[in-house]
Amino acid sequence: MGDNLKRAEKLLEKCRSILREEKIPATEYIQRLTINGRVRSRFGKCTKKGSGYEIELSGHLMEADDTAIETVILHELLHTCPRCLNHGKLWKAYAEKLNRKYGYRITATSSYHTMGLEDPGSRETVKYMIKCTKCGTEYPRKRKCSLVENVDRYRCGKCGGKLEIH
Ligand SMILES: [Zn+2]
Ligand SMILES: [Zn+2]
Repeated sequence: MGDNLKRAEKLLEKCRSILREEKIPATEYIQRLTINGRVRSRFGKCTKKGSGYEIELSGHLMEADDTAIETVILHELLHTCPRCLNHGKLWKAYAEKLNRKYGYRITATSSYHTMGLEDPGSRETVKYMIKCTKCGTEYPRKRKCSLVENVDRYRCGKCGGKLEIH
């Protein structure tokens, strides 16, 4: 994790110099940069701490390339600009400016797909596909559960039809 932090700090410095260059009024007060290895639901988080800000990056993000990490850092830094706490008009205008000039893809929401990362949720593949014989609704299950083991006892939630395992 130490190398990751060093790498993230270097990228943070690069992002800050871009913002200075573009005269985008992001904070000069980043108190702390941390990497959280357990977070998988988001890539970055920016919290106000006293007079400054704290940026947290997901450990999973560190598997991505530099550009993807910079995209997340810039996304978070833009939130420290005045009137940019949400993804409002001003926040979007700053993001678009950076995207146009530097080729970033800063968006209000970034998915694993746009970051070039594998979605951790998709690693577990669907093992059992239960299908309604009447309306065709599918009920994918990743592991054995009551529905898988006792499919006769259940009915389709949509039409009440009989279910069957495929
Ligand atoms: Zn945001
Ligand atoms: Zn059905």
